[in-house]
Amino acid sequence: MGKSWGRVLAPAVIIAATPLLIWNGFVQQVDASWGDVLLRLAGSPAAASLHQVVLAAIDDETASRCGPLPLRRALLAQGLEKLSRGEPAVLALDVLVAEAGEPAGDAALAAALRLFPRRVLAGSLESDGRRWILPLPALRQGAVMAHVHPAVDPDGTVRRAWLETEAAGRRLWALALEAARLANGAERPRETREALEMGNLRIPASGVGRPVVVRYAGPELTFARISFAAVMEGRIPPERFRGKIVIVGVTAQGSGDRHFTPFSVMSGPEIHANVVRAILDGDFPRSLGPGWELAISAAIVLACLVAVRRLRGARLALGLVAGAVAIPLACYAGLRHGLVLPPASFATVFVAASVVLGAGEYAAVAAALGREQVKRREYAFRVQAIAHELKTPLTAIQGGSELISESLVPEAQRAEMAGLIYKESKRLSGIIQTFLDVERIAAGSLDLDRRAVELEPLCAEVLDRARLYAARKRTRIEAHIAGGTIQADPDLLSFALYNLLTNAVKYSPAGSTVVMEAAPAAGGVGITVADQGYGIAPDEQERIFQRFYRLQRDRAGAEPGAGIGLALVKEIVEQHGGRIAVASKPGAGSRFTVTLPGEMHA
Ligand code: ADP
Repeated sequence: MGKSWGRVLAPAVIIAATPLLIWNGFVQQVDASWGDVLLRLAGSPAAASLHQVVLAAIDDETASRCGPLPLRRALLAQGLEKLSRGEPAVLALDVLVAEAGEPAGDAALAAALRLFPRRVLAGSLESDGRRWILPLPALRQGAVMAHVHPAVDPDGTVRRAWLETEAAGRRLWALALEAARLANGAERPRETREALEMGNLRIPASGVGRPVVVRYAGPELTFARISFAAVMEGRIPPERFRGKIVIVGVTAQGSGDRHFTPFSVMSGPEIHANVVRAILDGDFPRSLGPGWELAISAAIVLACLVAVRRLRGARLALGLVAGAVAIPLACYAGLRHGLVLPPASFATVFVAASVVLGAGEYAAVAAALGREQVKRREYAFRVQAIAHELKTPLTAIQGGSELISESLVPEAQRAEMAGLIYKESKRLSGIIQTFLDVERIAAGSLDLDRRAVELEPLCAEVLDRARLYAARKRTRIEAHIAGGTIQADPDLLSFALYNLLTNAVKYSPAGSTVVMEAAPAAGGVGITVADQGYGIAPDEQERIFQRFYRLQRDRAGAEPGAGIGLALVKEIVEQHGGRIAVASKPGAGSRFTVTLPGEMHA
């Protein structure tokens, strides 16, 4: 389990953390700021509708010529009268004219306003948000009331517009929306969503205030701006306003109606101009929505996962750099196509996923390297064990041959030595053969010569040899083998059974009994070798089939062995499509059962 925790835990952590990574105040704030940068980079939109809006600005020049603001009503009326001569399409007056002034001035203003067939007047909410401050009743007549509230984000920037504001049971649409509506020839304000679906404008179906993201056309002064003083003084030909949407409002530096926008600090009337432009062009970038944000974040996590698993070194670095570049580019492209993507959210997910998944992968690879090292150490140990195993007969052979070569050795002893050399060299080649067989069978390169084999004669031959071996320990081998046929390679099978029998003798005290039996079993024929020996502890029973594994007890014990016999037996049995099992109790004995395809005779 512990071997691949990095590969499991890391993706789990990153998946669980994704919503937190994308939906927290900090990241969303960064998203907003990045969005501002992208918006500035995206440049100004098509020009036609830009020229449809003109600002008549009550600016610093107006203030210096006409006295302190607010502008006196009589002067406002005078300027509007001049302006009306140009017959603009719509007048949008972004000036609050709520409280009564000099009667003559108010009357002049009412008369001037009547010169505009389509006019929108600003209304505003009181600071407690409960009551509308609307123009004087005399001015209101024949005009459309609209709200002028900016949608200020928590960081103080105006990125969106409220298309409507509702208070005290009265809803006012935005000044920009009403101006655009009148310019488009929609005469009657109908307070239904469908009626407002003019041109390309998509009004949000729901949400308090129906906020829409505004794509600003550019910094301040992107729209034509004429000083109201110049209009009043007749320095501007009225033609400049023909057919235009004219927004009259205060832009003077000290006016207070100035806000941060993605471009710069901007006056209220200029913001309205941007909203009008956006409405005329239906140019409202859409936001992704939480579902898509999550889906894309998940895709980013997946891409990172594939990258850290599949790529290594320079390729991985290249992949990560490509991802880091792709995110802002994709967001930029999205904005150009009217889609606001959150670059910071995606970048945060990307960075967190690469770091966490990368760390997980690193841990997994390090663990694998560690395991490899352990294996190598084990292998070295085993090679040493084999070398040790080979050394014993070699020493005997060396000693024997040395003695023979001495001329003083009597003939009888010489013959004995030759016999010993012969025996030990046979043992040596036996060990080497077994070792090679283990390697070849494990590598799958030893071919089986399978055929129908009669069980009785095969077992009889193996028993003969095993009994010779058992005689040295005065161990009795009993056998109960009935007739049967199995599909097997006879040489390999007798090797396997011989190994089980000699093990049973080796790991039992002298004078005990070993029993071999054959009986029908699920899946064919079961051949059992049972002893009354030392037994094997339960936790070691699996491991005795591993190559070179010997019980602790036997590593330094009297019985020689390399711990490869059972590995070979298991390999042989499995190559035959069979299985091997052991049941054992320390101190009581062991019982090995080999099950092979075949059948017992009736
Ligand atoms: P070897 O006998 O050459 O050491 P094996 O692979 O045949 O190698 O056996 C592996 C180990 O399993 C032995 O070293 C011994 O510790 C244990 N073992 C095998 N057979 C028996 C048995 N019948 N009774 C008890 N222990 C056994």
